Amino acid sequence: MSTNDIEAHFASVKSAIQQAEATCHREEQVKLMAVSKTKPIEMIQKAYALGQRDFGENYVQESLEKIQALSDLKDICWHFIGSIQSNKTRDIATHFDWVHSVNRLKIAQRLNDQRPDSLPPLNICLELNISNESTKSGMPLKELPSVIQHIADMPRLTLRGLMVIPAPETDPDRQRIPFHQAANVMKQLNHEVSLDMDTLSMGTTADYQAAITEGATIIRVGTALFGPRDYSQQH
Ligand SMILES: *Cc1c(COP(=O)(O)O)cnc(C)c1O
Repeated sequence: MSTNDIEAHFASVKSAIQQAEATCHREEQVKLMAVSKTKPIEMIQKAYALGQRDFGENYVQESLEKIQALSDLKDICWHFIGSIQSNKTRDIATHFDWVHSVNRLKIAQRLNDQRPDSLPPLNICLELNISNESTKSGMPLKELPSVIQHIADMPRLTLRGLMVIPAPETDPDRQRIPFHQAANVMKQLNHEVSLDMDTLSMGTTADYQAAITEGATIIRVGTALFGPRDYSQQH
């Protein structure tokens, strides 16, 4: 894919976001995270030149190399969205601005303990298993209140909201169901535990319009911006 393609892809995704926002009267409320996992640094630089600042990565080793290589770009915002192994939490706590995929209290505790004092508190989202499939990652709903109470005592973390990764679904109306549920869960938790979570991290290339309709504040888009990923090369 050429860098011209990237420019065209960003333009078309941004216009689709604006259209979705306008349809549900949520103008300028959605942040686009560009998911750059497996993609080369040159593509991130191109996106940055187009004004993109928020980037999502899944794999610690790969992301550290990119973050290091792009450390001159001071206003870039790095989001970790991959599955988290305990032995990688220090790298994540040190090099990222956001972590969306917190799915165990133990991981939150380690991120809190390892977040350097020289940096602002780490923004986190709790990954909610909305469809309750045992195969999917994320916390079951019933665990959330107690985990949230513990996180409230962790000074190096700021709990911003929830992330959901629903099972694939092609029908646009059905895509909305888990997003609607997630939005309700956040509303209810904010009310019951008097929190002010402000982030719903939901929607990818396949379903970001549905997510926007249901209140997404950050959408995580890879393929529509950077093209399909070739896993045979790296992972
Ligand atoms: C890879 C990934 C994305 C991006 O998915 P696309 O279908 O390429 O838009 C979003 N969220 C998470 C958690 C991912 O791992």
